[in-house]
Amino acid sequence: MATIFLSIGTNLGERRKNISKAIKLLKKSVGRCVKISDLYISKAWGFESENEFMNVAAEFETSLQPLELLKTTQQIEHLLGRIDKTQNVEYSDRIIDIDILFYNNQIIDLPHLTIPHPLLHKRNFVLIPLAEIAPELQHPVLNKSIKQLAKELQKSN
Ligand code: AMP
Repeated sequence: MATIFLSIGTNLGERRKNISKAIKLLKKSVGRCVKISDLYISKAWGFESENEFMNVAAEFETSLQPLELLKTTQQIEHLLGRIDKTQNVEYSDRIIDIDILFYNNQIIDLPHLTIPHPLLHKRNFVLIPLAEIAPELQHPVLNKSIKQLAKELQKSN
């Protein structure tokens, strides 16, 4: 069994419903949900939008391998109505976005999968909910705790 952390966000439609539907599907196809943070509201990051984001961080246990996990989270995004993935060209409004933040303490660098998620330490909307559920979790590349990364990012803003 692997311990994984996900960031789930939405800024379109019925945001609470989108997040609860995503969690329901993740429980069904990924595994047991160990912890889930409160809902956090934030402004769109990386692009202009009048629609604010709602985000949560969640810990799951899974028997899926990392690429199977990515495939599964992408299927859930599509099931919930996400039309296109941005392929890092441009950020846009979205019904649901599921990012894999950590997979145990593994470091994975594949063409379609980077773990730890490469932008997690730059995003308050990821670090703040994550610090609520896993403050002492160590980032295996930066060798700092989530609590420490969250504090550093808030200072730099
Ligand atoms: P996004 O539109 O932000 O959800 O990102 C889209 C692409 O990021 C997908 O095609 C994934 O293959 C890739 N990707 C790389 N690393 C990750 C990760 N840790 N979690 C989720 N997607 C990832």
